[in-house]
Amino acid sequence: MTFQTIKDIDVKNKTVLLRADLNVPTQDGQVTDTTRIDRLKPTIDYLLSQNSKIIVLSHFGRPKGQEKPEFSLSFLPPFLEKKWSVKVGFGQESSEQVTLLENLRFNPGEEKNNTAFAEELAKHGDIYVNDAFSCAHRAHASTEAITHLLPTVAGLLMASELNALNDALESPQKPVMAIVGGSKISTKLSVLNNMVTKVDYLTLGGAMANTFLAAQGHDMGSSLYEPDMLDEAQDILKSAKANNCNIVLPIDCIAVEKLEENAPHSTEFALQFPSDKSAIDIGEQSIAHINSILKTCKTVLWNGPMGVFEIKPFDNGTNQIAKQVAALTKSGNILSVAGGGDTVAALDNAGCIKDFSYISTAGGAFLEWIEGKELPGVKALEKAASKSKAA
Ligand code: ADP
Ligand code: MG
Repeated sequence: MTFQTIKDIDVKNKTVLLRADLNVPTQDGQVTDTTRIDRLKPTIDYLLSQNSKIIVLSHFGRPKGQEKPEFSLSFLPPFLEKKWSVKVGFGQESSEQVTLLENLRFNPGEEKNNTAFAEELAKHGDIYVNDAFSCAHRAHASTEAITHLLPTVAGLLMASELNALNDALESPQKPVMAIVGGSKISTKLSVLNNMVTKVDYLTLGGAMANTFLAAQGHDMGSSLYEPDMLDEAQDILKSAKANNCNIVLPIDCIAVEKLEENAPHSTEFALQFPSDKSAIDIGEQSIAHINSILKTCKTVLWNGPMGVFEIKPFDNGTNQIAKQVAALTKSGNILSVAGGGDTVAALDNAGCIKDFSYISTAGGAFLEWIEGKELPGVKALEKAASKSKAA
């Protein structure tokens, strides 16, 4: 993967259009999680050190091409000022060094990847910087069309995300383990199909492991599984074999009659599962087995929890694996990358967020990337890099 960043070109005294993802969670006009704002700070600091003028572009919510006041970004500058330690103006009339423009999605051209809207945006700056990996799976005016109009480079956040993802899947140190869990195979078919061609171990957990066990002919009792996905599961098992990918399935499972907090539970062998119970987490033997393989790995990529982590104590399997990955990362033995809405919540619950090499908060874009899809926003960066090389 070749792309340029703001450090590879001259941004001194230039006006930079910075595509950010400031689609932050809010409640009553307050930002409830500032992660997305915090992560942009290195880019802002570098551009300020170069005396660049920064025009920040972002979408917020789904106003669907209409100017709906409840989706205005005008409330945000004070929050940005606090985190970025710089005055932030709002709207096209602002003359501050850092200015946030109104919600991109107020213009119907944004989501249509419309050239006229991209031209309107491009007017405001000399250089386009994309620092919104989480929006890179969409070809929108502010992520794609605009890259045809201005010199285009990655921001520092985008660069760190692309480098981490590249080190985990495109050119990883081997052996590589992918851990894929969660509830459904159907939502992760492309992920699984891509993983079996790329990794040495594919560890399956969550309800999706139940579907694989069922596909192998085992009765999983009243566990959640997808009866209409058995053929797909078998195909993935075959493809794994053809690609020398070892599938790691649960040996034992935590079983309950009724799923609720602190429900009475037993440990059952996955291959002799009782007909009246549901498998809701992996058991200690599975955990020990996975952990022993992890010790031999150099790279781990994780999406999807091992069990119903929202209900205690059925977060145990996820927590124990997370702690092992965190410890191996801390001791410098592995590179660990994780992503996915519930996965990030599960790793947070395990207290392990800080100890992973990289946690991707880019939900849809992260999934499409592990599916092996080409992301329009990333492709545009690569194209711009090869164009500038040729020039
Ligand atoms: P992500 O959002 O990280 O991609 P998913 O949405 O695929 O993850 O999966 C998360 C969901 O899977 C959680 O809500 C969790 O409760 C559920 N889950 C995990 N294991 C099981 C299981 N054995 N039975 C039922 N649901 C499960
Ligand atoms: Mg989810």
